[in-house]
Formats: sequence, structure tokens, C-alpha cells
Amino acid sequence: MSTNTNADKKPSVVKAIFNMQCPSCRKGHMYKQKSMFPLKTMLDMPEECPVCGQKMEPQTGFYFGTGYVSYALSVALFVFNLVWYWTFFGISYKDNSIFYYLITSISIVVLMQPYIMRISRVLYLYLFVRYGAHTKDQPVDHDHAIPSGNRA
Ligand SMILES: [Zn+2]
Repeated sequence: MSTNTNADKKPSVVKAIFNMQCPSCRKGHMYKQKSMFPLKTMLDMPEECPVCGQKMEPQTGFYFGTGYVSYALSVALFVFNLVWYWTFFGISYKDNSIFYYLITSISIVVLMQPYIMRISRVLYLYLFVRYGAHTKDQPVDHDHAIPSGNRA
């Protein structure tokens, strides 16, 4: 249908967000650790994208507003839980089913909080940084791409 060439195809934005990749190049990972564990350092970001050099925190306190994003996501998750719970188990005011739903839904939202916090930052940076916004002047120096923990 479209005449896209595969040669320099732009990585899909949805995929890049779920992979938590840099909004500018959609290649570099936005967090120092790809996994959520250990939880203590799950929000640690490199200063800039290891691939394109896009700043991961453009200004001090940049991520202050992510609270709203994670709140919105939590509410969306409650609604999503309501839909499937209602579909599969049914919810009625005549018995305790509404409480079972609430317990289930709250548990899921609480368990998902670390993920929600991470994806909120990703979404937040995507709001401000367009694809290709930053390109490194120099070619990427892979020899110096050591994990920050090993820096002397
Ligand atoms: Zn990048």
C-alpha cells in the first residue's frame, strides 16, 4: 500500500516505547538496567543515550511531572482490570464480587507500580523529544561504552 523502503526504516514508536528505548534514535536503552530488578536502581538513567547522545534528563527535575503520567496509567489499568474481570467473573452489587474485583485490581496496580514508574518516564521523554532530535557529531565510540559502575 505505502511505498516505504526497508533501507532506513524508522523503528516503530510503540515498540520503542515498550522496549524503553531513546525517543531520538529508538535504539539506545533509556535505563542503566534493562531489567526492573534490583528495584532500588531501576530508575537510574544514563546521563545521555549511549547510541545518539540524547540527554536522558534534559533539565533538573524534568521528571517531576511523571507523577501525573503514572497516575493516569494506574487509573487506566483499573479500568482495564474492570473490563476483563467483569467479562470473565462478573461483578454484582448483590454479593462480594465488587470487593474481589477491588482486591484483585489494587494488587495488580500495586505490583505494576515499578513498571508504571519506568514506562511513565519513557512516555514523558517521548512527549518532548522527537525522532532524530539528537545525533552525535562523532561516530559512537564502542570501546568507551563501559557500564557506569565500572568507571574508575
Ligand atoms: Zn538515542
